[in-house]
Amino acid sequence: MSELTNSVFLQAANSFCFDRTHRRSKLPQKTKPFRPFAKHTPDSGPLRGQSRKHSGFTGWIFCPILLCSSKKRLHRQASTCGRKALADYFQCLLLDCDGVLWQGDQNIDGSALAVQALKQAGKQLVLVTNSSTKSRASLAARATNVLGIDVGVEEVVTSGAVVAAEAVAQKVKTAYVVGSQGLKEELQLAGIQVLDPDVPEPFDENLFRLLTTIPTPEAVIVGHDESFSFSKLATASLFLQRGGEACLFFGTNPDVGNRDKSGYLIPEAGAILAAIEAASGRSAVITGKPSTILINQLLQQRGLTKQQVMMVGDRLDTDIAFGNNGGISTCLVLTGVSSRTQVDAAHDALRPQHVCNSLHDIVFG
Ligand SMILES: [Mg+2]
Repeated sequence: MSELTNSVFLQAANSFCFDRTHRRSKLPQKTKPFRPFAKHTPDSGPLRGQSRKHSGFTGWIFCPILLCSSKKRLHRQASTCGRKALADYFQCLLLDCDGVLWQGDQNIDGSALAVQALKQAGKQLVLVTNSSTKSRASLAARATNVLGIDVGVEEVVTSGAVVAAEAVAQKVKTAYVVGSQGLKEELQLAGIQVLDPDVPEPFDENLFRLLTTIPTPEAVIVGHDESFSFSKLATASLFLQRGGEACLFFGTNPDVGNRDKSGYLIPEAGAILAAIEAASGRSAVITGKPSTILINQLLQQRGLTKQQVMMVGDRLDTDIAFGNNGGISTCLVLTGVSSRTQVDAAHDALRPQHVCNSLHDIVFG
């Protein structure tokens, strides 16, 4: 009796959970299954072998029992029947932070549990953020603090770290930086000399003309800068105009704003970048999401194929566009900025392959 009842639960649970969590598309077939509840899987736990042993018609005799079962009970049963969760299909997950792992200083329900399970299962995790205000070490410390799980510097990628690596690849030795101290630290760690000219504040035309006599840096690098000013705008524009193509122009990320709890956008690096582009007549090379520079760096550094990697994010215009541009799988979680309605209205470049309620659902189904 008990075995037959279990069989009925297994059939119904598979069907129920498959439909409720996400839209399946083409998935890699050869990746190792991920089982966060390994000790309860059919291979080793109390339900061992039963899903195949009792898969015939007789199990459906107990359909009335199923109808009386709650969704909660079915969900719990699904976790123990060896059904694959979306995370099972990938060796590496790239996780956006804000809106996926946490909101402000609060972690999102189930995110810490999901991260812990992924790490225990041996998955590679990379926290990928377009923020350039903090160094990787600082962000790793924040993740450790908010999630309550050890997160190493090697598990974090910021747009500041990516722009530094790209600048080094382009043989940049000196740069004028409009950005935070965290961005400057990343560039200095990469061996780039950050120029700090004596920019007149507030702006003064006579003092500004003195800047025309100092050497032009090999690059102007722009990120989020909460002390951005007219003088910095004029200085960056001056170097870009005077240096021409010999002065490379990088932007950490294109995000024009982050949504505050009030509902209004607070300006981000993209807004500053737009001002400098307009003032100089130059276009920046973006290195953060959705640029393919970041994904190419990651795949090369970690020896992964595109098929082994999935991007998880809460924004269609950066996270999902980034994954789609890079040719990896993408999953939107509904715990942040973008909604399912926006997914339905999105064009192909911004449309995710999967939509899940949360990171927890990606891991546990
Ligand atoms: Mg986000």
